[in-house]
Amino acid sequence: KHYILNGNKLWITNAGIANFFTIFAKTEVEEKGVKKEKVTCFVSEMAEGITVGPSEHKLGIRASWTNAVHIENLKVPVENVIGGVGQGFKVAMGVLNHGRLGLAAGCVGSSRNCIKASIEHANERVQFQKKIGEFGMVKEKIARMVANTYAAEAMVYMTTALIDRKDVDYSLESACAKVFASEVLWETVDENLQIWAGNGYMKEYPYEKWLRDARINRIFEGTNEILRAFIALSGMQGPGEELAGLADAIKYPLKGLGPVSDFAIRKIRQNIVGESITKSHPALKKMAGMLEEYAVEFTGQVETLLRRHGRHIHLRQFAQKRIADIAIDMYAMACVLSRVSRALEEKGGPEKCEMELAIAESFFTKANRRIRGNFKAMVRNDDDEMKLIAEKCYELGQYPFDSLSG
Ligand SMILES: Cc1cc2nc3c(=O)[nH]c(=O)nc-3n(C[C@H](O)[C@H](O)[C@H](O)COP(=O)(O)OP(=O)(O)OC[C@H]3O[C@@H](n4cnc5c(N)ncnc54)[C@H](O)[C@@H]3O)c2cc1C
Repeated sequence: KHYILNGNKLWITNAGIANFFTIFAKTEVEEKGVKKEKVTCFVSEMAEGITVGPSEHKLGIRASWTNAVHIENLKVPVENVIGGVGQGFKVAMGVLNHGRLGLAAGCVGSSRNCIKASIEHANERVQFQKKIGEFGMVKEKIARMVANTYAAEAMVYMTTALIDRKDVDYSLESACAKVFASEVLWETVDENLQIWAGNGYMKEYPYEKWLRDARINRIFEGTNEILRAFIALSGMQGPGEELAGLADAIKYPLKGLGPVSDFAIRKIRQNIVGESITKSHPALKKMAGMLEEYAVEFTGQVETLLRRHGRHIHLRQFAQKRIADIAIDMYAMACVLSRVSRALEEKGGPEKCEMELAIAESFFTKANRRIRGNFKAMVRNDDDEMKLIAEKCYELGQYPFDSLSG
């Protein structure tokens, strides 16, 4: 017995060199006497029925293959189903949760490389009779790159620990790590190129390639926009269900976002950060207190938002972006707290952890500013004006002014 599969998929990484393919296909299943279409995962060797297109020409990651795959009347034996018939969505989510964290870890590695390259140039290049590393604007870049990379790395460590526990759902955390780390890397490759300046722009050096290679991380494994919607809406699912009368309103918040939606619908979650932090080191009391306050305020703001928008929350993407950004920052802060607490314990106190404490302080200062800004913008913002600008421009199909009319 076998299935016959048909379909096409663009941009499959490494399809050009693959011997095996995992294929997600819609199959008919019967549940309680009702016939439904559900996704099933299959594995197939390279076989008659699979055609792989030429490798695409890309902005970056040119050392990897990216090909279209065409599947026509591919015979797959029934025993090649992975995870059960109709269970493909669960399999895909498992793969994505792992994949996103792997991507975040890769971004951390690349950021660390960039930092090394930037420091090398900061220490060597002399302008205005000084090493450029002595200039405040260069120091600011290096310190920001280091603090952000440390936070991204802390998120990766924390999320891998969640996976190792085997008893918690880490989908939200791995999405937070992916968004945060991919954006940290993008900022870091950009600042590294800026530090290398003219040389950075030249093909003779690898830094323009690093920039091109980094760009894909914000696009694949779920674009950062889709992941922000996912983080916001699945994070709000828990508080929403606790609010009387709103349970139904947000039951299907992600409809229209494809497979991600079904997953989010099934999730019942509280905010990602608990309201009481008991395990941070005493030297970090102020920062832990700040995070606790935010957790409380966040819950209140989410409830207000759900009361205000009700069932329409899934349409309010300006608000979703703020919620997601706060959640990501709070998760990053929690991970930094945890990592620095561990360092303080292991190294034997604050005097041995000057660097870690400075990084934590710097990261919290900036995250605090972002979170405060997002909380304020929930009450007062320019959302209506932004929508008006975008929608009017869609109508015009271009930038609304020409140079003569002003
Ligand atoms: C080099 C490369 C390798 C890849 N490898 C693989 C692979 O191995 N396997 C695989 O399955 N796929 C792979 N992909 C596909 C990749 O995952 C998709 O490109 C990605 O998910 C985005 O889909 P899209 O390009 O169709 O963008 P679209 O979905 O068309 O999105 C366009 C823009 O609109 C935004 N947008 C879309 N919907 C919403 C929404 N609801 N709310 C807000 N904003 C929205 C997006 O964020 C994006 O900015 C690869 C892609 C590339 C470029």
